[in-house]
Amino acid sequence: MKVGILGAGQLARMLALAGIPRGIEFVFYDPNPTSCAAQLGEFICGEYDDHQKLDQFASKVDVVSIESENIPVETLNYLQKHVSVHPSPEAVSTSQDRLIEKKLFTQLKIPAPAFFAIDSAEQLEQVAQQHGDTLVIKTRRFGYDGKGQAMLKKPEQANEIWHELGADSLIAEQFMKFSREVSLIAVRGQQGDIQYYPLIQNLHQNGILVKSQTSLNDPLQSLAEDHAKKILSELSYVGVLVFEFFVCGEILVANEIAPRVHNSGHWTIEGAATSQFENHLRAILNIPLGATNALFDCTMYNLVGNMPDSKAVMALENASLHDYGKSPRENRKLGHVTLCNATPENLSAVEAIIKQ
Ligand code: AMP
Repeated sequence: MKVGILGAGQLARMLALAGIPRGIEFVFYDPNPTSCAAQLGEFICGEYDDHQKLDQFASKVDVVSIESENIPVETLNYLQKHVSVHPSPEAVSTSQDRLIEKKLFTQLKIPAPAFFAIDSAEQLEQVAQQHGDTLVIKTRRFGYDGKGQAMLKKPEQANEIWHELGADSLIAEQFMKFSREVSLIAVRGQQGDIQYYPLIQNLHQNGILVKSQTSLNDPLQSLAEDHAKKILSELSYVGVLVFEFFVCGEILVANEIAPRVHNSGHWTIEGAATSQFENHLRAILNIPLGATNALFDCTMYNLVGNMPDSKAVMALENASLHDYGKSPRENRKLGHVTLCNATPENLSAVEAIIKQ
């Protein structure tokens, strides 16, 4: 079995690390010649509109998947003429545009922040005046890790924010006062079978995920599953899909979906019966899904900007270090550490090492 992955960053790398022991081979496709998954399979360096290279890629694999929702839909549509693509181009295109995504939540009666489509600085000012409260302004497309996002507190900021974000279409969202941010990782197979992982509680700093903790037996688990099931069924989705929510009282307010394996699910490598990476491969290759129960209470820390002393991390009991082999850069995710059934002392020790 040969899987083609569009994008060859750390998510592609971890898909390969899950698949290789099961006899699955990988071909990666990425415009970046120094992609960190390249060493784990065959690597084709090409632009996403290079049909000759895409033909070559398609001819080598049984199925194509993605590691990023920002792969152009035209690329997926082109490849689909030659090879199976999971998740489908339709599912990916829905999650590429925050406005279409929010409209889908509303259509499926999944609570979401009030939202407004914005096509000019004047319109933004008008919406801000009418709304009268803080708004989160986001580019409709290509935002990630807090990029392409600004907080609008007063209508007078509208012009500055419009120019700062520099896109010709934005979405303005009601600012949600949430108590927690949680994500649900779900996986749907080709026969429509669905499995859910336990809810995960996430901590972001400057829009970047820094810490994820399993929230075993969370009272909102079944509500989150109901919401995710609606989306998975509506999109006839195949593969892992992640749903991010704000917890507001007893309600889960939908923030966004990601049509791929997700940073908040890295703990599943050591901490779940089957990792999110293996289950994604099972789904796209039409192999029965594996169990998603947690084996431990897990905490994952992202290693952002620079790598800590790896020996010091590895010396800690039940700590698993993952180094993606990327060169250091500000705000770049270089690796992560997962702790299983960690003591408070171990958690503090990891936090201290990461801060050094
Ligand atoms: P996003 O790129 O949409 O996931 O946003 C990144 C982070 O910004 C989220 O994880 C939240 O912490 C915050 N955020 C985004 N949208 C809102 C909102 N409507 N209300 C409050 N905080 C938000």
